[in-house]
Amino acid sequence: MSQTRRFDLIVIGAGPAGSAAALVAAQGGLSVALVDRAAFPRDKLCGGGISGRAQGHLDRVFGALPGGLLHPVSQIRLRHRGADLGVQICDPPFHTTMRRAFDAVLAGRALGAGAADHTGQRVRGIDPDAAAITLTCGTQLEAPLLIGADGVNSIVARRLWGRAHDPARIAFALEVEAPAPPGPEVLEIDLGAAHWGYGWSFPKAGGLTLGVGGLAARNPALGASMADYLARAGAPDGLRIRGHHLPFGDFPAIAGEGRVLLAGDAAGLVDPITGEGIGWAVHSGALAGAAAVRALAEDAPGAALRHYMAGLAPVHAELRRARMLRRLIYARPLQGRFARAIARNAAIQRRYVQLLQGERDYADLGAGSVLRLLRRLVLPALDPLGPRR
Ligand SMILES: Cc1cc2nc3c(=O)[nH]c(=O)nc-3n(C[C@H](O)[C@H](O)[C@H](O)COP(=O)(O)OP(=O)(O)OC[C@H]3O[C@@H](n4cnc5c(N)ncnc54)[C@H](O)[C@@H]3O)c2cc1C
Repeated sequence: MSQTRRFDLIVIGAGPAGSAAALVAAQGGLSVALVDRAAFPRDKLCGGGISGRAQGHLDRVFGALPGGLLHPVSQIRLRHRGADLGVQICDPPFHTTMRRAFDAVLAGRALGAGAADHTGQRVRGIDPDAAAITLTCGTQLEAPLLIGADGVNSIVARRLWGRAHDPARIAFALEVEAPAPPGPEVLEIDLGAAHWGYGWSFPKAGGLTLGVGGLAARNPALGASMADYLARAGAPDGLRIRGHHLPFGDFPAIAGEGRVLLAGDAAGLVDPITGEGIGWAVHSGALAGAAAVRALAEDAPGAALRHYMAGLAPVHAELRRARMLRRLIYARPLQGRFARAIARNAAIQRRYVQLLQGERDYADLGAGSVLRLLRRLVLPALDPLGPRR
C-alpha cells in the first residue's frame, strides 16, 4: 500500500546544491526530505577543482571540512596545445577533491542536521503544481515547496519546461582518472585542447584527473581532442574515458516556477569560462534553502521563488559578465591571440589564473582591464597589415 509523508520542503538531488539547500532549511527549522537516486558515497564525473570562491561558500554553509578532503596544489601551468605559456605560484593554494568522498561528507552534514534520508531512492513522478513526488517504492512525498538540485539533466526542470537545457548551448566534457606522474604537483590548463573550452590536468591525493571539455556544438570531435590531449600528457593507454554534460553559461532567467526552485547545475549555474560549478551550486542551494525558510515563516510559500531570485541576481550578473568576456577568450580568430597575450603579458596571465582560482570576480576586472584586453586582441585582427610580432 502506498504511503504519503508530508514535509515543509522536498529537495531532489543530494550533490553540493541539494545538500546545501537541505542543510540550511533544516537548520532553519523546516522538516526536509532529501532525495537522491544514488546511495552515498557515489561517483560524480568532475575535475574536483575547488576555487577560493567555492571554499568561501563551503566554509559559510558547511563549516570546517574533514582534514585531507581538500588537496592543496600550489602551482598552475598554462599551456596552448602543449606549448608552455607560463607557471603561476598559487598563494593561497588551489584545492582539488575526489567527489565520491566530498559529496558524501556534504550529504552527511545535511542528514546530520535532521533532513530525512531518501537517498538511494528513484523518483517515479513529479507534480510541480502540488510540489509532490512519488518514489519508485510507491511512497509519496508532499510539501509546500520543492527544490530541484538534480544536476544538468534535471528531471525537475524537464517536468517544468520539457527540457533542462538547450543542448546546443551547453558543454560536454570527457575525463579519465590516471596515476600521478613523478615530480612536483602542477595543475595544468591547456587553452587549445578544445574549442570554447579547455583541457585540464588536476593533481589529487593519489592520482590525476585529466579531461577536455567545451561547448558541445563546437566540438563534434571531442573524442579526438581527448586522444590528442592524453597523448601530449603522456597518459598510459587503456584508461576508462567517461563523459558528462555541463551547463556552461546557459541558465534560465527565472530559476524555477510556482512552488519549485532550481539550484546548481539544474539552474545552469556554471561559469561559462572556467566550467566551475561547485561553488555556485553550494551558494545557490543555500540561497534556495534560506528562501524556503523565509517564505514558510511568512506563511507565503508562493513568495519563495521571488526571495530566491533576489539572492541569485548577483550570481546571474556575474555569469552574464563571464559569458560576454568568453567571446574574447574562446572565439576562433581570437583564441590563439589570447594564448599569446597570456604568454607575453604577466598581468593578463595573473588575472586569468586569479579568475580560475576564484580569487577575483569578473566584476572586479573592471571596464579598464576588459578594454585593454579588447585592444590587445581585437584591434590587431582588424589591422589590414596583420598582427604585429
Ligand atoms: C567533466 C566535468 C568536470 C568538472 N570539473 C569541475 C571542477 O573542477 N570544479 C568545479 O567547481 N566544477 C566542475 N564541474 C561542474 C560540477 O561538477 C557541477 O557544477 C556540480 O557538481 C553541480 O552540483 P549540483 O549539486 O548542482 O549537481 P550534481 O553534483 O550533479 O548533483 C546532482 C545530484 O542529483 C542526483 N539526481 C540526478 N537525477 C536524479 C533523479 N532523477 N532523481 C533523484 N536524484 C537525482 C544525482 O544522483 C546527484 O547526486 C565539472 C563538471 C564536469 C562534467
